[in-house]
Amino acid sequence: VECGRTYQPSKGLYTCPECGETGILDVIYDYEAIQPVLTREALAANHDYSHWRYLPLMPLESREHIQPLSVGWTPLVRNRRLEEALGVGRLFIKDDGRNPTGSLKDRASSVGVAKALAEGEKVITCASTGNAASSLAGFAASAGLKAYIFVPATAPEAKVAQLLIFGANVLLVQGSYDEAYDLCSAAATRYGWYNRNCAVNPYLIEGKKTIGFEIAEQLGWQVPDWFVMSVGDGCSIAGAGKAFDELFRLGLIDRVPRLLGVQAAGAAPVTAAFYQNATTFHPVKPDTLADSIAVGVPRNFTKAIRQVRSSGGTMINVTDQEILEAMQLMAGLAGVFTEPAGSAALAGLRAARSAGVIGPHDSVVVAATGNGLKDIKAARRITPEPVLVYPDLADLARKLEATH
Ligand SMILES: [Zn+2]
Repeated sequence: VECGRTYQPSKGLYTCPECGETGILDVIYDYEAIQPVLTREALAANHDYSHWRYLPLMPLESREHIQPLSVGWTPLVRNRRLEEALGVGRLFIKDDGRNPTGSLKDRASSVGVAKALAEGEKVITCASTGNAASSLAGFAASAGLKAYIFVPATAPEAKVAQLLIFGANVLLVQGSYDEAYDLCSAAATRYGWYNRNCAVNPYLIEGKKTIGFEIAEQLGWQVPDWFVMSVGDGCSIAGAGKAFDELFRLGLIDRVPRLLGVQAAGAAPVTAAFYQNATTFHPVKPDTLADSIAVGVPRNFTKAIRQVRSSGGTMINVTDQEILEAMQLMAGLAGVFTEPAGSAALAGLRAARSAGVIGPHDSVVVAATGNGLKDIKAARRITPEPVLVYPDLADLARKLEATH
């Protein structure tokens, strides 16, 4: 992404040898060969309702190493109550909390693990704020790979529980995600482990992007005016943007949606770089309850900003309070319970709608990137206390009276 050099894929090639660590690579396909194969008709006749239905646009030579966990083809939920509450034309939630380990990261891990197996690796590692970790651990368990996972010691308990039950070697780092990331990278080099970190491993983003393919296909190839997603490292939104670009290039859609990238106000170096037209970012010390996007050193900010800009989209920040309110709104009006990073996207839509960036007749897809059950503490910060009642009808009557 820095120098424009191209390489043939080879084992151990993660970043551009000329540019070093910051020389993140991008996967390019033979689109002319794919075009006649991946048509609307071919997809309509394909009954593989997982993200592997887009295999020609994914970096695997075969299905041999794909794990039998169903990834992708998550529901796209239209909700009119939310549309009314937010004042937009059409609003859909892409419920990626419905993936096997409960987050969008399963799209990436499923590719990462298949890739590691194809390269004959036995040990895989990643640093994560939580979701990528639990996802990798699940897929590694299925594949019989040994996993070393680095997460900040502050990661929500449910995510750590997932890691442990999947049998990963869990390293709780006494530091931020950014420090966990550096330690993981150093360990991968030192011990020769397969590095699943999205920022340096270009294949991971190829898994994440399938969310974009699905949205287009589920909407009958009529893309929305806006696609809204929260931003941490920047990989996910960059992936979604790449997906829409690829579909456009193949003639499957006739325009791309504008991307709205949403950051938590307490961890917003990508938004800052976006508005300053900067080619670099200023690291911040993350301060947000949205743990999945609490990233102060966004490794993939270049790809993210490039995609947002080329789509004609923009970036916006939201406060933790807005994130919690959006979580309650999505759950209370649409019945979809998402974790803070997921509801950050809805909060961003709300803010962009208030600011007039998104219009009253626009169609919008919001990515609910992770399941709300992964972080119940956050939810309990905004919900009322339940009513305690004795197993007695008279007591119930008194309590019901008191709640009115
Ligand atoms: Zn380079």
